Amino acid sequence: MNSDFVNALSADDLPALKSAPKVDLHCHAFFSTCLRNLEKRVGRTLEPPPAKMDGLGGMHVYATDVLDPHLRDRETIEFVVESALSDAIEDGVVVLEMSFDIRRAAYYADGLAGVRRHVEALRARYRPQIDLRPELGIPRQIAACPELMSLASQALEMGLFTSIDLYDHQHACAPEAVETLYAKAGAAGMKLKAHVGEFGGAAEIRRTVELLELDEVQHGIAACESVEVMRWLAANRIRLNVCPTSNVMLDAVSHLAAHPVRLLYDNGIPVTINTDDPMIFDQSVSNEYRNLYRAGVFSAAELDGIRRASLAPVA
Ligand SMILES: [Zn+2]
Repeated sequence: MNSDFVNALSADDLPALKSAPKVDLHCHAFFSTCLRNLEKRVGRTLEPPPAKMDGLGGMHVYATDVLDPHLRDRETIEFVVESALSDAIEDGVVVLEMSFDIRRAAYYADGLAGVRRHVEALRARYRPQIDLRPELGIPRQIAACPELMSLASQALEMGLFTSIDLYDHQHACAPEAVETLYAKAGAAGMKLKAHVGEFGGAAEIRRTVELLELDEVQHGIAACESVEVMRWLAANRIRLNVCPTSNVMLDAVSHLAAHPVRLLYDNGIPVTINTDDPMIFDQSVSNEYRNLYRAGVFSAAELDGIRRASLAPVA
């Protein structure tokens, strides 16, 4: 046990919490730095998000109205990722699996090559401090767009991305629509992840994991609705990359003390603690640990165990 981290939680010593090595395995590049950094860049304050939003739809309303108008040029979206790396390093994150949406290629005259150039330059510059593992982000709605699906398939051949993730409204496409893409990513040795069960539906979590042969699930908190699904995830060592503040602010969970991550953990499922979209949810990984401790969800020793386990592949 790392008693420093345990002591830091008990003493509410944020600098000491930050100094302990941590991972962030669930972070979307587009909103990956805190709002303050974007405000500094645009030279004015921006309206913060409401404390409660109505799911992904509510989040999209806020993002469209307040954030997106400032995120329309390549220089700014590159600034966001670079600032996010600084934020993560400052927070003691040593492994960052950051999801780069396939639509990002549209910001570059040379498409995917431009994405690669920027990501590889950042990896090289920050390598001593942080292991940036680029993840290919697939929004579910592109299943209906053959051009973007083809681009995603090409992206798998670049040797740049170490994992793949699927996200956005679950009803926008069934996992069958991306089965071929996931089979290709799996054959390339990539880690396979998808958002599922963020807002209910335990059965769909298991179905998606089986169909796409997922290694890990982003959120997956609805597994708590089914003892069978929880047992199955635990038996198959499927890790859930949970983002507590995101779940509370998007009203998947009423308040932090009631977060089902406790139940998932008690059922033997490997869990990690992550940020999701720091520009919207305004929490670092250290903050998320601190919040869970203060809300009484886990003991300091349990959180230290979760932190240490997250630094290694699932056993
Ligand atoms: Zn997410």
